[in-house]
Order: sequence, then C-alpha cells, then structure tokens
Amino acid sequence: MEQCILQVALDTPLHTVFDYCWRGREDEAIPVVGQLVVVPFGRRETVGVVVGHAAGTELSADKIKDVIAVRSQLPPLSAHWLALCGFAADYYQRPLGEVMLPGLPKNLRALTTVALDKALKALGRMAAPPTKRKAKAKAADIVQADEPAQPAEVLADPMQFGAAPPLNAAQQQAVDVIAQAEGFAPLLLYGVTGSGKTEVYLQAAAAILKRAADARAATGEPVAPEEAPAQILVLVPEINLTPQLEGNIRARFPHLNVVSLHSGLAEGERTRSWLAAHLGQAHIVLGTRLAILSSLPHLKLIVIDEEHDPSYKQQEGLRYSARDLAVWRAHQLGIPVVLGSATPSLETWQHAQAGRYRRLELRQRAAQQAVLPKVKVVDMERDKPQDGLTSTLIGAIRKRLENGEQSLLFLNRRGYAPVLACDACGWISNCMRCDAFMVVHRPERRLRCHHCSLELHIPKSCPTCGNIDLQPLGRGTQRVEEGLHAIFPEARVLRIDADSTRLKGSAQIAFDSVHRGEVDILIGTQMVAKGHDFKKLTLVGVMNPDTALFSHDYRASERLFAQLMQVAGRAGRAGLSADGSSGEVLIQTRYPHHPLYQAVMRHDYDGFAGTLLEERQQACFPPFMYQALLRAEARELEQAIGFLQEAAAMLEAPAITINAPIPMTMMRVANVERAQLLVECPSRPALQAFLKEWLAELRLVKTRVRWSLEVDPVDI
Ligand code: ADP
Ligand code: ZN
Ligand code: ZN
Repeated sequence: MEQCILQVALDTPLHTVFDYCWRGREDEAIPVVGQLVVVPFGRRETVGVVVGHAAGTELSADKIKDVIAVRSQLPPLSAHWLALCGFAADYYQRPLGEVMLPGLPKNLRALTTVALDKALKALGRMAAPPTKRKAKAKAADIVQADEPAQPAEVLADPMQFGAAPPLNAAQQQAVDVIAQAEGFAPLLLYGVTGSGKTEVYLQAAAAILKRAADARAATGEPVAPEEAPAQILVLVPEINLTPQLEGNIRARFPHLNVVSLHSGLAEGERTRSWLAAHLGQAHIVLGTRLAILSSLPHLKLIVIDEEHDPSYKQQEGLRYSARDLAVWRAHQLGIPVVLGSATPSLETWQHAQAGRYRRLELRQRAAQQAVLPKVKVVDMERDKPQDGLTSTLIGAIRKRLENGEQSLLFLNRRGYAPVLACDACGWISNCMRCDAFMVVHRPERRLRCHHCSLELHIPKSCPTCGNIDLQPLGRGTQRVEEGLHAIFPEARVLRIDADSTRLKGSAQIAFDSVHRGEVDILIGTQMVAKGHDFKKLTLVGVMNPDTALFSHDYRASERLFAQLMQVAGRAGRAGLSADGSSGEVLIQTRYPHHPLYQAVMRHDYDGFAGTLLEERQQACFPPFMYQALLRAEARELEQAIGFLQEAAAMLEAPAITINAPIPMTMMRVANVERAQLLVECPSRPALQAFLKEWLAELRLVKTRVRWSLEVDPVDI
C-alpha cells in the first residue's frame, strides 16, 4: 500500500491549499503535481489540482481526509501552467484555486468523467480502462453518443499552407522580426487600420510552425502525428470577431488543428478545444481573454490583436488583464508576444517609447489603392440634425446608396432613448434600484435598467401626474434605425447591438449579411466598430461622441480616441469608391475644434498619445503610477465607507498613498451602496509587497460589507 500527503488547490475563497492523503495500491503511481483529483470538502466532493507533495501535515490523523479519485486519464497540467496561475493568484491577490479551477472547462471539474472521457475519445485519446463500478454507465454512454476518433493516417502534409498574398516591405519586415525572434521578445505591431496586421500574424505563425516542424523532423525522434510541433495562441477582443478570423486561419492552414476558445461555446465543444490545446494537438488556438489561462504545452508565439481593447480586462472575480498575463507568459517561456493595434494602450506605447518593447510599424494600408479615409467633423450647431442625422451625413449616405456602397453609423448607446420624461411635471424614468435612468426599448415596449436588469412596461401615462404624452429623450440605436427607415425608405437598414444579437449565432448571421452586401446602412454600437473587414463599406458616420469628452474618467479620452480611430478604420478598406474617392468618416459634434477630433482627422495617434502621456505623467496617473482599488458594497453607504476607513488606517508603508474612501460614481446599483478606496505607488514591487501584507490583515476583519480588490483597475 502506497501513501502520501498531497497539497491540493480548490476553488474556494480561502487563501490556502489543502492537505489530503492519497492511498493507492503498490502498482498505482503516486499522483503528480498538475493532476486533477476528486476530494471531499465540507459536505461535498470537489475537483482540485495537485500543487505539491508534503512531507507531513499539521492535520491530525483523524482529520485528514483521503483523495477519492485521480483523473489519471488526463495528462497533468504543466509546471508552466501552474506557474502562470501562481503568478496571477499572487499578483491579483486571489486564492490559487480560484485562479486555476474556474478557468477549466466544466467537464473537467465535474464529479463524473463521462463527458471528459467522451471528449478524450473524440480526440483519439482512449480513456484509461474504466473501473468496475463505472463500467456499466460508461458502456451505455458510448452506445448513446459515440464520436468517431480522428483518422490515424496523415492525409496531407500538415505544413502545406493555403495561398498568401505577397507581403509589402513593412509587413515582411514585421514577419521576419517575429519569426526570427529568439527568447522573450515583446513586440508592438503598430499598424494603421487596414494595414494588414492579420496577414503578418498568419505568415509569422506559418514561419514558426514550419521551423518547429523541420526541427522536429531533424531530430528523427518518433512523435505522435497529431502532436503539434508548435502552438500559437491568438487572442481577439470579441467573440463575434472569432468566426471571421477563424475562417481566415482555417483557409490558410487547411491541414492544421485550429480550435477556438471563448465563452460562447457549448460545453462539449469547449472541452474538446481546451483538451486539444492541453494535449498539444491544437496548432493554433484562437480565443478571447479567457484563453490566456489555457494549457498549451508547446506554446511558441502569442498574438494579441487590438491589444488596447478594454475587453482584455476581466471585470469580475479574478480581475486580470489578459494582455499583461500574455506578456508574463511569453517572458516565462522565452517566446515572442505580438501586441497589435492601430491605437496601442498608453501602457504599451510607453513601454515601446522606453525601448522595453520593440515597435514594428505598418504605416500604410495594405490592399491595392486603399488609403486611410478622410475624416471630417460636422458642426451640429451649424448643421442641425434631423432624427439625429445632419444634412451632411444624410447626403453622404445618399451618395453611397447611389453608388451601391455601404454606410456604417456608430452610436455607442443601445435602446431607443436613454430616458423617458414627462414635460408636465418633470418626472423622469429613474431606476428605483440604481443611480441610473431606465432606458426606453421601444420594440420590446419596455423600460430597462442596463445596470441591474430591472424591466418595466413603458407606462401609458406619467406615474406622477397622469400626463399621457411621455417623451423619450435622446437617441439610442433603435431610434436611429427608425429615423433611417423614414429618411431612406428604399434602403436596407440593419441594426447590430447587444439587443439585436441576443440569440446565439445571430451576430454571425448579421455580420455575414453585411459581408454579402445585403445591407446598405448598418447602425450599431461598439460591436460593429472593431476588427471587421467589410469590403463595400466606404462611409462611417459617428453620432454623438461628445459626452466622453467631459467624462470624470481619466481614461475616457484615450478610449474615445481609440474607438473613433477603430470605427473610422472600417471605411474604405478595400480600395477606392466607384467615383474614385477614398473612404469617408463624418464625426457629428458640437465641439468641432476639440483637439481630440483634430487628432483623429490627422490620423495622428503618435501626437495624441504623446500629449496624453505628458498629462498622465504630470498628474501622476498610470502608466507612471501603479494602482489598486479596494471596493466595498453594503446596504448603507456609511457601512461601506466605514469599512474602507478602517482598511485605510490599518497599515502604512513608505511610498504608498492611501486616498480617502469615496462613494463610487454610480453609487447605488441594485439597491447596494458602493464605495471605493484608491491605493497608489510609483513602484510596482512596492505596491505588491504592501498589498500582500494589507490583504492578509483585511481578510481577518469580520464584516458584513462585501469587498474586493482590483489590481491595475481600469474604471476608477
Ligand atoms: P488590419 O488588421 O491591420 O486592420 P487587415 O489584416 O484586416 O488589416 O487587412 C486589411 C485588408 O488588406 C484585408 O482585406 C487584407 O486581405 C488586405 N491585405 C493584407 N495584406 C495584404 C497584402 N500584402 N496585399 C494585398 N492585400 C493585403
Ligand atoms: Zn408627469
Ligand atoms: Zn437598475
């Protein structure tokens, strides 16, 4: 009888790992670090990750519990993956198990192995022989849902790639630098919209895969044919961008194993994709931020497309930055990481300016005759809008309709109108649970709070005075859509926003119809602004971006600038219009002379970023300052503030600034009052050291207040 003490990480809020006793027969192997095990925890059973072996335990013999099962059919998670999770747990001040387990597909964390074994079988990995107890259930399962294992014979040379366009000089140089990088190489691929960054990723990936395949062949060692010689991780900001890029990748690498990983996948699919990555079979993994925590034993290149995008930041639970973890991962593995953007985040830009990241530039659009669009501002004081559209914009749309080209209207506000109001008594549609308005959704005849999801029927009359003439104020995408139908009754108008694409797969159907040219005018939120390559689109209209100019959030102008450059980048990507003109962008504004719009008109990211960085440096904001935000939520604001005051007084350290607790800008959400406390330090290691000590004390405080810490917060 073999026996040992295992340290196991479990998905619990407790900042510790747990000791369990493993007892096995003599012929059974002791579970290794990285293996999944089933253990009793409290009154339930749960799956955990073995993170170490202990010589002894503080638990007494009658307290220590036994491991129930070992998932021996699954190869252990690698030391690199464990180190990645360890780093994230440490850096973001979360328990190790809370980093490791939620990122695994549900089927790996399940107490039964039916789905896991099925997925392994589908990938050609036969599961370990079933134990007697489970044999019956398993046989039934196989009859029910059998999937063919992958064919064993290799049909074509996997490194035979699809046709690629010849690269321009700048693209070629970028590909060479990426492909020839040795060791850790953080590379900023700074390329204007439409400059062909995707092509750079594809050809760099091809070069790295080919080289790895050759190197493997040269060793002459036998390897399983399905084992990828190298793995490439490509991160994209939005789920709805994955199918487009996935299509491009599959066409280019027809014989390679390409999988995608994002939250929109069904569990079975997600399990198979994750396992294909973990087993080293997937050559290319395309995913959203969560894919950064996937297990990739042969990882040789990480690409982060649109690296500036806010969606790389997880905003709940483990509030990680997938971009930052990607750079850490590349550093740890000694491989290149490519951060691609036309408007890099100021953090990344600052790294490049300081020489820590190497900058690769694509200054021109790639396609034949394609040039950057002409950006103009339309002064809404002079050209008064009708249905939100100025006559200039209406005229420009009309011209596109005549030419058979497409127009895109960008308005970052969904719903019909942001507020419903009564002229007679001044009533407005406040959410009763939040510091927010309830938004009018006309097609659904509902008022909806976008913060707490409260829904009400649109009242027939004013709840206070009975007035039946309630007015929607302002304009969301639904209202613009209605206006477009009225102004251009003959045009095919399509709205794409979170409401119109609620059903699974519907966003893809909508984008496909734009690609097929079945849409004349597209109206949408930031969902339509990013990444897409609509060939017939030559006009972009931006409606009402002014509010962001005066936001309290110091990042608002960085974001607005990036958003405008992105959406502008959708125009004229494939070449010139029928009449020989380039793409056109019209920004409707009341502040036509604002420096931000002026910079967009000049396509001057460098200049604008320089100005913003100077401002940040003077004001001691990131990236010149490191921050952490302690948030507190309670029924009463005083409780939340009180807790934060207590926290603020707990610990002092040199170079650490603890600001006064303040209510959050949106103080009340879903009847909970929220406050925050900002901690700042010019040194990242000093901040990390402080946080570690501080949180250890904070965790001992007995309180009803719910609190959480965010390191490197983006919304403050
Ligand atoms: P980005 O991601 O930089 O905005 P894309 O990668 O979407 O740009 O490329 C924009 C367009 O240019 C695409 O239609 C792409 O097929 C085309 N393209 C890219 N590289 C080349 C090239 N070397 N020659 C011709 N067309 C190219
Ligand atoms: Zn009223
Ligand atoms: Zn609400």
